[in-house]
Amino acid sequence: MNDLTTDVLVIGAGLTGAVIAAQLADRNARVGIVDAQRVGQAATRRALGLATISPHMAHIRETKYGLERLKRLAAQHGALLQSCSVIHLATTRERERALQQLAEAVPDAGLEWTTQRDLLPSGFAGGLLAHDSALVDVDLLLVRLLRHPNIAIRQYAEVFRLESAGEVTYALCKDLTITAYCVILATNVYVGLLSPYLADSVRGARGAIWSSQPPQAAGAPAHLYAGMPLLFDDARLALMPGKDGKLHGAAWLWHERDADKDPSEELRRFLKRFGLGKPEQTSQWSTGVTTTTDDGAPRVGRLDVEGNMLYALGLGAYGLAWAPVVAERIAALAFAG
Ligand SMILES: Cc1cc2nc3c(=O)[nH]c(=O)nc-3n(C[C@H](O)[C@H](O)[C@H](O)COP(=O)(O)OP(=O)(O)OC[C@H]3O[C@@H](n4cnc5c(N)ncnc54)[C@H](O)[C@@H]3O)c2cc1C
Repeated sequence: MNDLTTDVLVIGAGLTGAVIAAQLADRNARVGIVDAQRVGQAATRRALGLATISPHMAHIRETKYGLERLKRLAAQHGALLQSCSVIHLATTRERERALQQLAEAVPDAGLEWTTQRDLLPSGFAGGLLAHDSALVDVDLLLVRLLRHPNIAIRQYAEVFRLESAGEVTYALCKDLTITAYCVILATNVYVGLLSPYLADSVRGARGAIWSSQPPQAAGAPAHLYAGMPLLFDDARLALMPGKDGKLHGAAWLWHERDADKDPSEELRRFLKRFGLGKPEQTSQWSTGVTTTTDDGAPRVGRLDVEGNMLYALGLGAYGLAWAPVVAERIAALAFAG
């Protein structure tokens, strides 16, 4: 493989790395992006493509801003499938009250507390409608973002070591060395290899996705899939129609103590609760991992005060909305350094 010298090297060609690379390339930086696998094959490949706000007071404004940017970006690249509303639901009284308060506390955020019965699954008295959410073709967006004259891509090249020497950093892969003035880690949950320090500040979370046969076959009540995605308990469970006409469900295990468990059990309970059939009656299962942080906000910063090594990790279940926010923070740091 050919070695590469570049202004900026982004390690990790998932959605985070791609949005960062495109943002920097638009500002005329020469950007190299490298991935251990093919581009977009890790968490990004698993995403349901549902872009919505994070329903936490501390993150609403940022993720709303990110969502708007993401929608513009996706529309520009022909990857915006549809604008839609999403309903955030809670299974505990405490969390339900928090959701209700959000709509009142941030009146201009496009949020609405609804008790409209035909919008809500049975057993739920109210839910938070997040208007201006979106379904995005993440694979397409990623490919189009990286198709930029200032971006050079190297696939199947795992960086196993970084070495700083004066102004430059060398990224060492098995058959390739990349020389860069600035290095950005967008490696998601696999960061441990390059930085044990960062590995301690984010944690892996496992998710499973189930795709049904056409929804009718699963016998779901019409309002569950009639065009409005449902997110339960901070996206721990999700239910939504896909662009392929299938019904998708997703579940997460967030806790360290559950690290060895299979999130499909969570999904199984969920499908049972809504009478959606058994997973084994359906067409596909897939699982994936992403990183989360304790406060739900991604970690973005400078790793090494001497050199120019930056990181953007821990985007979690609202990764689509966070990505443009994170990319702007990285650009500000990269151009300040
Ligand atoms: C099941 C599931 C469903 C999801 N659904 C949604 C959704 O609907 N909406 C939403 O907003 N978010 C969703 N998410 C979350 C979203 O997918 C993530 O937040 C986002 O994709 C994270 O992107 P990333 O680029 O940070 O990570 P990744 O996509 O994991 O990319 C990191 C890349 O870095 C590469 N890499 C790592 N180490 C190295 C190395 N040493 N050298 C070279 N390359 C390296 C990896 O190969 C990988 O390709 C979902 C996630 C999962 C798992």
